[in-house]
Amino acid sequence: MNLRTLTNLLIALSLTACTITPGDRAEASPMPSPTSQIVTTPVPTLQRQLQPIETPLPTPSPTPAAIVCGLDSATPATRYTINAVLDYPARRVQVVQHIEYINRDSAALSELVFNIKPNTDPGIFQLAGVTLTTSGEPLQTSLARQRLTLTLPEPLDPACQIRLTLTFELAIPPIANRGVQRFQGYLGYSDRQLNLGHWLPTIALRRDDDWITHEPSVIGEQEALGIADWDVHLAIQNAPDTLVAAAPGTLLENGDTYWRWVLPAARDFSLSLGEGFILSARQLPDGPLVEVYTFPDALIETQAGPIDAAAFALDTAANSLAIFANRFGPYPYERLVIVQGDFPDGMEFSGIVFVGGEYFRRFGGPDSYLTLITAHEVSHQWWYSQVGSDQALHPWLDEALATYSELVFIEEYYPALKGWWWEFRIDSFSPEGFVDSTVYDFPSRRAYINAVYLRGVRMLDALRATIGTDAFFAWLRRYAEVGNGQVMEPLSFWSLLTPEQFDLTAPIRQRYLQQPQIIRLDPAAGS
Ligand SMILES: [Zn+2]
Repeated sequence: MNLRTLTNLLIALSLTACTITPGDRAEASPMPSPTSQIVTTPVPTLQRQLQPIETPLPTPSPTPAAIVCGLDSATPATRYTINAVLDYPARRVQVVQHIEYINRDSAALSELVFNIKPNTDPGIFQLAGVTLTTSGEPLQTSLARQRLTLTLPEPLDPACQIRLTLTFELAIPPIANRGVQRFQGYLGYSDRQLNLGHWLPTIALRRDDDWITHEPSVIGEQEALGIADWDVHLAIQNAPDTLVAAAPGTLLENGDTYWRWVLPAARDFSLSLGEGFILSARQLPDGPLVEVYTFPDALIETQAGPIDAAAFALDTAANSLAIFANRFGPYPYERLVIVQGDFPDGMEFSGIVFVGGEYFRRFGGPDSYLTLITAHEVSHQWWYSQVGSDQALHPWLDEALATYSELVFIEEYYPALKGWWWEFRIDSFSPEGFVDSTVYDFPSRRAYINAVYLRGVRMLDALRATIGTDAFFAWLRRYAEVGNGQVMEPLSFWSLLTPEQFDLTAPIRQRYLQQPQIIRLDPAAGS
């Protein structure tokens, strides 16, 4: 180790030791210290802290620069390290979130914008402050509903990284028991479950020199999320002995009341805590470990004997993974987690999905919503998690594909149910509306699903009939490849058709889209 290396190593270590944040108060408790782990554990963080070694510093200073430049393009643009302490009976979470962010834009940035989903409704999110991680210097902030704007102390040039620390508290709300608010139960608690979905601030995406923040709506989702590497430390206080954590990623540390997970290249890090969760799991050959977390009411008593809906959901999830990996490309993580949610419908996150508890309790056989919603949510591991899209403005890009994936699953495993699926899932609703609508265009959730999901399925099936099944799936696979890790636009989707396919399918776009006059990019777009 040469002198400069040693000097910079000491700077890196003193940087960690000098950072006083509310999260560091947890060091006084028996919980492992998050900051000392970053120093002693051979995780990529250490390597990145040492990046300046390759860049001569003008003068070693006791306070490292707020902004580090010269990072190569292989360094992930965004990395989040979360130190969270949950007081379980109080349903309150204290969070210290460190962000390493590289400006991949072509112009310098004078401000940064975070989207804070939990601040959609009042009384949930309470910001304590934002500081430069290196110096502890507070930053000027402006919080307007979901949008948190930070004024940077100096411009962040392209290919330069800034490290920030957000400190905040969440008061998790109860899951609503009626109305459309019930569908937001992925951030909420019941008497036996606490869900942390979209609980963490994320850096907004940039498009056309602006930051994307969408107005919240009770219809659909409004996220447009880039990918990031996640390192999540969670300590729980005053929890019942029966509490089980269902979370995605690689579990690096596992204590009775403390966990640490890492999840690379993910759009979010979400989890669920359940009292008395029952785990059913299966390791797929050449695939991930599939885990299904359910409550005892997923075992249904019938006159013919008990039916284990959890076992059926595990079968469905494992089979879904297999056929979707075959059709669309590999699943990227070592585990996939399915959680019985104490809220209706389902919800997708990276590496973890919720399937509504009612679907388990009403399960009667393969021709049921448990089958369809499980396959649907699993397919979002491709059409959301791997291939991102703007869920507010182009919701069909993930939802029409996820609903069509239900048919892909049915065709493979229950071909005799294909007619049932079309009638039960699509035709019985006599769907109307433009497929390329936004989530803001509808008076009701039903109208939104009919247009975007159900007519979206009809449009995709018409495309398949026109270009042929093999070409159709080759197109979707190509879209999954090109879109992996990206946020895709409809134009990119259509432009991946060959010129002949594109011309052949013009009448279909005319029939289903509000804006059918699309000019194909040539060569095929892939940004
Ligand atoms: Zn969906």
